[in-house]
Amino acid sequence: MRIPLDRSNGIPLYQQIEAWLRQNILSGGLPTDTRLPATRSLADELGVSRITVQNAYAVLESDGLILTREGSGTFVAPVPRLGWAEEVDGGDWPLWQAQFEGQAAVSPPQTRHPDLISFTGVGDPRHFPFREFSRTIQEVLRRDGTAALEYGSFDNGHLPLRETVIHILASQGIQSRPEHVLITSGSQQGLALVCQVLLQAGDVVLVEKPTYNLALELFRSLGLKVVGIPVDRNGMQVEELEPLLQQHCPRLIYTIPNFQNPSGACLSSARRRQLLALADRYNVPILEDDFAGDLRYEGRSQPAIKSFDPGGRVIYLGTFSKMLMPGLRVGYLLAHGPVFEQFVCQKRVLDLTTTPLMQRALDRYVTIGRYQAYLRRSVRLFRQRRDAMVTAVQRYLPEAAFSIPQGGLFLWLKFADGFSSSRLLPVALSLGVEFAPGVRFFADSAEGEPYLRLNFASCTPQEIETGIRRLRQAVETLS
Ligand code: PMP
Repeated sequence: MRIPLDRSNGIPLYQQIEAWLRQNILSGGLPTDTRLPATRSLADELGVSRITVQNAYAVLESDGLILTREGSGTFVAPVPRLGWAEEVDGGDWPLWQAQFEGQAAVSPPQTRHPDLISFTGVGDPRHFPFREFSRTIQEVLRRDGTAALEYGSFDNGHLPLRETVIHILASQGIQSRPEHVLITSGSQQGLALVCQVLLQAGDVVLVEKPTYNLALELFRSLGLKVVGIPVDRNGMQVEELEPLLQQHCPRLIYTIPNFQNPSGACLSSARRRQLLALADRYNVPILEDDFAGDLRYEGRSQPAIKSFDPGGRVIYLGTFSKMLMPGLRVGYLLAHGPVFEQFVCQKRVLDLTTTPLMQRALDRYVTIGRYQAYLRRSVRLFRQRRDAMVTAVQRYLPEAAFSIPQGGLFLWLKFADGFSSSRLLPVALSLGVEFAPGVRFFADSAEGEPYLRLNFASCTPQEIETGIRRLRQAVETLS
């Protein structure tokens, strides 16, 4: 136990030990039942006399923070922990931290409804292929030994996984080779890499309006300016693009062409070609974020914009988060031309490598055909849940307008002007249902007030029915 002691400040050492342990017990750093070191070994470790440690323990014991169990040692007692406010505000912050004070949107945790139905998750953990995947990890460890636990080479990722990615991409009509694929820590990292390599603070990014909230937050954090192009049933209104290209000289176009987050819209084939032609004419790279392209429940799939790219115009991002499990943190970036090496170098300085064990496990899992089977199962399950949510919304929230998405994860509802989804959220949470308010998905958040995004994939049809009924109640409570 590395207790910091100051031998020059005049405070007795036993008090310093006692104060450090007290703080850690009260903050939860040392949970109930943690076994404390024997007094002799702690004394040796800290270079103090045994009596010093015994004195510290005696004070803590008399205050009921620790207890001695005859023959087995000294343990942390069950004590009430410090509340959130005490912990967060208790700091005596140095001056350089002042600039951050009051900036973070940290809100005190609300008491969670005991039976909260959340329409915000990704996939349904109850259906993750948990057993097969844990077996796969064991197989990989047996097969590859410690190689699976080394850094691996700091290049573009585990080669067999990149080959697997090439097969997945081929099924989407994208022809490529493993040397053009960079394995990333989720597609979120791909997004960050592209921005860091291509853009500087003050540059303009053209995005769909609305768009993925954490892309917006990333752009904001890098000081980029965001210009939005409205989305309709057929995705980004590419017809509106040219004047914006002329007016704003953007350095990047970010698009989510399939089952867009949050609107669920799909960019039509004609618009895909038109977008590429315009981007080419105005010399702007396209970042194509295909986060859930395989989750199609009906209708014809559209070719990826990347598949029309004659070379180097489109940077494509994919991920295993939505098709498999988000906690894997494995995604991929496909790019051609000299910029690719820049992404590889930037990735290396950011996190050295994407966890080699996960890359190997994923490769083994996907190559043996289970990925396709799992995908088919997810499509069946999520289609049923989408239908359940459509029915429930039509029944309980008939005033909300929406289009039925042909795939993906989201229903995007629009209420009348004047409606405030951010005011609705706390009421809904108190009634046991959670959603993503529209304000998160617009650069100008006020534009999002009439909207809310519901993820239908994480809940059973019964949960969906109950959750939407609670949402009705929340809407009525608010009005
Ligand atoms: N793009 C979109 C559109 C998303 O919705 C998400 C996650 N919700 C991501 C990228 C990032 O996903 P991940 O890092 O898990 O691949």
